[in-house]
Amino acid sequence: MKPLLSIFIDGLKPESLEHMPFLNSFQSKRRIKGEHGYSIACHGSMYSGVHTDIHKLWFVWQYAPTSSPFRRVKYLFKIPFMGTLPGKLFLHKTAKLFEQPNTSFFGIPRVIHVPLRLLKYLDVSEKRNYDEPGYLTEVPSLFDIMREKGIAFEVIGMDKSEREESKIVERHTDHKKLPFIYWFIGDVDHFSHKFGQESDEAKKRLAELDALLGRKYEELTSAIGEVDVLVWSDHGHIDVAHKIDLYDTFEQAGADLNDYLHVIDGTYARFWFDKDGQEAKVRQVLESLKEYGDVMEIEDQKAHRVYPGDRRYGDLIFALRPGAIFSKTIWGWSRTMKSMHGYSPEYRESDGVLISNLPVTDDRTLELIDITPSIMERLELTPLEHMEGKSFWSH
Ligand SMILES: [Zn+2]
Repeated sequence: MKPLLSIFIDGLKPESLEHMPFLNSFQSKRRIKGEHGYSIACHGSMYSGVHTDIHKLWFVWQYAPTSSPFRRVKYLFKIPFMGTLPGKLFLHKTAKLFEQPNTSFFGIPRVIHVPLRLLKYLDVSEKRNYDEPGYLTEVPSLFDIMREKGIAFEVIGMDKSEREESKIVERHTDHKKLPFIYWFIGDVDHFSHKFGQESDEAKKRLAELDALLGRKYEELTSAIGEVDVLVWSDHGHIDVAHKIDLYDTFEQAGADLNDYLHVIDGTYARFWFDKDGQEAKVRQVLESLKEYGDVMEIEDQKAHRVYPGDRRYGDLIFALRPGAIFSKTIWGWSRTMKSMHGYSPEYRESDGVLISNLPVTDDRTLELIDITPSIMERLELTPLEHMEGKSFWSH
């Protein structure tokens, strides 16, 4: 068994391989479907072999009153200044002081556009980083399975010691011959949001990253010998064509969005209702955006395998279609956002890419849930009973 070098490249479009001669030189190149959501859902699925409705990590922010980090600072909410941006940043800092450290990839992010009275109900759904024990609570993660089976592995690029993960991979030279070697690269997603993945700047950076990966691959194989290679991304990138200020949309309809408990994530708006009549009003206002998006009814959420079985991610969830984004979100203003993801995987532009030096001739649609069973097969482990994905290697 050769070591398996796995490289994850966040947000790489299949079409971008044309600017990446090293990656493009491998024999198998396929499209791969992601989850209806962002990286958090995609990672949950690719490290578990099950869809989002089973691992339950759909969005970063969820409704969880008993565990909200803001529940302990809610007495501060009455101070008038807390509703302002500096107030929210202060609340965020103070709330974190009382919490166990959250070591997940996103941690407890700052909150920008969000109604103050919702904060005490909000908690993050992820508590641990992808490769840490107990990252997933509903099913075991690939990394937990490897630990349990005694498979040695190494993860490079996930430690947040640099803004660009490629720098961590670049400085790593102590190559060990281990069954599973994982390089984690977030750069492509970052610069794609900023410039658009079709831009000249992005093409230049894609070529530089490709050259770096080529060099590191040479360095690795001359140190430890031949490896099998699996490279994949979790989603594509779609240029932003239309920005919607949902606060304006509500104002134009004679309503105030801040009267409704809501979280806006970028391409989704999520609502929790605590008074009669709210849902009808929100649905009526959202009707004016039907050119750009749709309410994801519970049946749609079930069909897309994202419904968690309760209201943690919203009583009503509205999803934008490719090209549209919300300008004011819980994360910020989306001012520099040229390109986005987080749309339905039904759209071909949402596809990620999968590359390997091994044959992948299976002609079915490949999905992120296939990643863990496929890696397990290379490691001579039998995929677990509950896994929904299938190994994609040709036999
Ligand atoms: Zn992104």
